[in-house]
Amino acid sequence: TDNRKTILVTGGAGFIGSAVVRHIIQHTECFVVNVDKLTYAGNLKSLVDISDSERYAFEQVDICDQSELIRIFGDYQPDAVMHLAAESHVDRSIDGPSTFIQTNIVGTYTLLEAARSYWNLLQGERRTSFRFHHISTDEVFGDLHGTEDLFTETTPYAPSSPYSASKAGSDHLVRAWYRTYGLPVVVTNCSNNYGPYHFPEKLIPLIILNALAGKPLPVYGMGNQVRDWLYVEDHARALYKVVSQGNVGETYNIGGHNEKQNIEVVRSICELLEELAPVKPAGVTKYHDLITYVTDRPGHDLRYAIDASKIASELGWSPQESFESGLRKTVQWYMDNKEWWQAVLNGSYAMERLGQG
Ligand code: NAD
Repeated sequence: TDNRKTILVTGGAGFIGSAVVRHIIQHTECFVVNVDKLTYAGNLKSLVDISDSERYAFEQVDICDQSELIRIFGDYQPDAVMHLAAESHVDRSIDGPSTFIQTNIVGTYTLLEAARSYWNLLQGERRTSFRFHHISTDEVFGDLHGTEDLFTETTPYAPSSPYSASKAGSDHLVRAWYRTYGLPVVVTNCSNNYGPYHFPEKLIPLIILNALAGKPLPVYGMGNQVRDWLYVEDHARALYKVVSQGNVGETYNIGGHNEKQNIEVVRSICELLEELAPVKPAGVTKYHDLITYVTDRPGHDLRYAIDASKIASELGWSPQESFESGLRKTVQWYMDNKEWWQAVLNGSYAMERLGQG
């Protein structure tokens, strides 16, 4: 049955990948093999809740390594691939695009080829039911300038940053492998995620941790950029739905119906902290006073918003977490899990850039 499958997850030590692995181990009977290179963004501590499971295996492998991928497909005989491994931070892609081209484009190509040669040898029901699920972003659509439009599955691609261009390239490759070779693919494009285990270079955790440390809260430009926020566990649930029930060759947009300006998000975090962390660092009267406007990111997209009605009507998925309750849980999680983020901050990674993914 669907519930007993072997799923090869790439990037399972990352923010969304770890939520997907936790979701599958905790809510299904499936076996997961996690293929992750463990870059600066990969953290096995995000998987401690499930890493003892007999239905979990870890392979530290680069998705650009063709022979290792072929070995893994042979060893584990997966029924599906969920491909989340990527370089994911826009500011890093502006500083140094090369690893983005390598992992997001060459890595996706290498994984597609390994999957195709494996799939070609499958027969009968296993061959028909095999899925290659490519996980992507709404940033491939560029930005919206009106206030009414939403990105749909047929919005033309117009990526702005090296990150989103490399993800757009990978989406095109995946669709071409379906059209040209018949590889049974599904693609999802999702809006901004937030929640526990989010690497502290991204907007929400950066603001929480800087505020708790009494450091400035950097906001790009006027802070009027609009993002559609989705709680990461809602995304993980959507992804499992798509890989197990989605129609071959289809694309599904995933979003939270939660459009917020960046400055609104920062203010909401400050308000939550006033309530949850009333004892402030020395010299801080109100968390709001720490907000600091900084020069905008080049090419910064103004607005993203997703029309997620197709996945709602075809697969019956909709977000469960409201932004208010999800943000509260997230702030509380960072307050309760200092060990997790202190280890990240003390690592080799230096917080040299302001992060607002
Ligand atoms: P992340 O940066 O937190 O995690 C990426 C993971 O991939 C890390 O564990 C890293 O070690 C691994 N990785 C990187 N390069 C690799 C390589 N060459 N080989 C093997 N593993 C490698 O990213 P995330 O935020 O969890 O995003 C996961 C996916 O979802 C990405 O494809 C991203 O484009 C997409 N996405 C993210 C968001 C978001 O808001 N974070 C929204 C929509 C889509």
